Amino acid sequence: MFDKILIANRGEIALRILRACKELGIATVAVHSTADADAMHVRLADESVCIGPPQARDSYLNIPSLLAACEITGADAVHPGYGFLSENARFADILESHNIHFIGPKAEHIRIMGDKIEAKRTAKRLGIPCVPGSEGGITDDDEALRVAADIGYPVLVKAAAGGGGRGMKVARSEADLVHALQTARTEAKAAFGDDAVYLEKYLEKPRHIEIQVLGDGRGNAVHLGERDCSLQRRHQKVWEEATSPALNAAMRDDIGGVVARAMQELGYLGAGTIEFLYEDGQFYFIEMNTRIQVEHPVTEMITGIDLVNEQIRIAAGSPLSFRQEDVVIEGHAIECRINAEHPVTFRPSPGKITYFHPPGGLGVRVDSAVYQGYSIPPYYDSLMGKLIVHGRTRNECLMRLRRALDEFVVEGVETTLPLFRALVRNPDMQNGVYDIHWLEKFLSGGGMDQPAG
Ligand code: ADP
Repeated sequence: MFDKILIANRGEIALRILRACKELGIATVAVHSTADADAMHVRLADESVCIGPPQARDSYLNIPSLLAACEITGADAVHPGYGFLSENARFADILESHNIHFIGPKAEHIRIMGDKIEAKRTAKRLGIPCVPGSEGGITDDDEALRVAADIGYPVLVKAAAGGGGRGMKVARSEADLVHALQTARTEAKAAFGDDAVYLEKYLEKPRHIEIQVLGDGRGNAVHLGERDCSLQRRHQKVWEEATSPALNAAMRDDIGGVVARAMQELGYLGAGTIEFLYEDGQFYFIEMNTRIQVEHPVTEMITGIDLVNEQIRIAAGSPLSFRQEDVVIEGHAIECRINAEHPVTFRPSPGKITYFHPPGGLGVRVDSAVYQGYSIPPYYDSLMGKLIVHGRTRNECLMRLRRALDEFVVEGVETTLPLFRALVRNPDMQNGVYDIHWLEKFLSGGGMDQPAG
């Protein structure tokens, strides 16, 4: 097992990793920018190192500074969390060449899944169902028109290097498509320095359902069921739940089995998520994330498995500590991503938290790194904390969430708590009937114009 882990991240995920390390009896090193000197992860770690100025590219993304911090403190492993360097294969390679373990998958698998065309090709080879579309990148318009005629309109033009929904364009006709190809290429070139694009059938009203996997790189891989992340704003997840209101146990076993077998064949090591769109009873692979995800706690709440603990143990060379049949799903969990943002305009609201009272009680978990008197810096994302609630049934979970949201008090900054108070009282949300476009429609239809009761 590792002696000392350096956590190359900040905010709630740095704290989450720190907690797992403490429970494993592993010493911790926090790194921080000058803007984060007072952050909770710095206070709770055994040691801390300042790695640069506020801008992430000069601190949390600064590989030489992180290497120096490992050297100074003698850390033998790095946990990258999510975002920042978590899906950077070069970072994983550089650490390994310095005899420091990267707590994540093999660099080769990060590389494959980081290129969407390559990822889709690999998924298909492994027997994972994919969205119908072009075999690889599309280089000329005639080829695009042929593929589109084949799969049928509407189609979606996507960037191979895509991320955050950029470089994606819908085309509903031939004339649309020629224009969409041009704009998608230009956008992709500007955002990622790579204008490679590919085509997919555009699904009109899918849900976003993803499968959590763990593999030990020795041919053992298991799935931990699904998360439903259909509630999105601008392709960003807002509310995540497990299990999905759209699946039953047989459907879960089917798709979970396909994914687990694929990961066994790949020899996947670590935690990963296979993301699907789900429409009319069919799953369509869209991408794989080769890291821990923001929404991982809902899976932990229904399985009782500590995913970060497993990540660390696997990276240290231990085999998986359980088999597929040992995974038992109990009850229902919902996570709300609470941002320091205006609940109607979504404008970021950094600043000092003058009062902070998180909810508690049975089945309530708050993963947050903020505290009363803390100032949220303006340099990073606006995630203030996650409220995760567990219940024996979805209904109990919803009632508990409603109660917990009403207990939650944050003063000094704006938060998206009022949005969740409205969502938990909404009949569609209560019935679990929402697709990936539901939230945008709710917001543009004035869903937040009346303050929730
Ligand atoms: P990114 O890496 O940019 O987030 P993804 O491939 O994960 O791109 O897609 C992001 C979101 O875009 C999905 O969650 C879904 O809302 C939408 N999307 C992606 N592919 C399709 C498709 N074929 N049809 C309809 N919507 C899609």
